[in-house]
Amino acid sequence: MEQYQHVNGIILRSRDYKEADQLLTVYTREQGKITVQARGVKKTASRLRSGILLFSHTSLVLTAGKAFPIVTGASTETAFPLLRSDFTRMSYASYAAELLDQVIADSQPDEDLFVLILQTMYLLENINPWLAVRHLELRLLELQGYGIQLEHCLQCGAPLHGDRFYGVQGGVLCRICSHGQQGGSALTQEALAVLKAFSYIPMHRLGWVHISGEGRQSLEQYLELQLQQVLSWRLKSRDFLKNMNL
Ligand SMILES: [Zn+2]
Repeated sequence: MEQYQHVNGIILRSRDYKEADQLLTVYTREQGKITVQARGVKKTASRLRSGILLFSHTSLVLTAGKAFPIVTGASTETAFPLLRSDFTRMSYASYAAELLDQVIADSQPDEDLFVLILQTMYLLENINPWLAVRHLELRLLELQGYGIQLEHCLQCGAPLHGDRFYGVQGGVLCRICSHGQQGGSALTQEALAVLKAFSYIPMHRLGWVHISGEGRQSLEQYLELQLQQVLSWRLKSRDFLKNMNL
């Protein structure tokens, strides 16, 4: 008798495989990040197609396959249609998915991570997607054990007061400790305030956060510095967002 498994997940990536198949990278609640094979989905008559939309939240029925588990049933829980039709949101969703795929190890289920990914898709669909990915970057670092110290100077431990700070991996330096430091990035007071807000603002209010162009740039550079701890190479989709000025 064939064994069927039911999983619930978010589709992060899909690529063509063999003549008419696709391989999907899915972050599932039950099994963590897995790769599954969807057979025949490039044929127009495939009944699976509507259940395996990129970036959607879906329920899958899997059975054992030779190389990968085979998808035998799929039904969409939440489609997030703008992530496939709106160019800007799609570009940000691609970046979020590439980041997640790079950082997360295979087959290690984590409920907090599952919830974060689902929230991120929701935010990408509904609010300024720039905020959604910055929020993801910070929370993802925390969940991977790379939390950032934002309350006190990483070197002398003094509370962070003032209007200019210096960002280094793992935290922030006060003005005094930042003298002569290299390899970090300037961090404005506004950027620091927004970073802190990411930890306490309820998700449905995240869209209300306002940040200036200067603050945006500072925050983006600072998070990029933090991501270097977990990424071994630059992400193409991040460069794309920058080049397109999205
Ligand atoms: Zn200090």
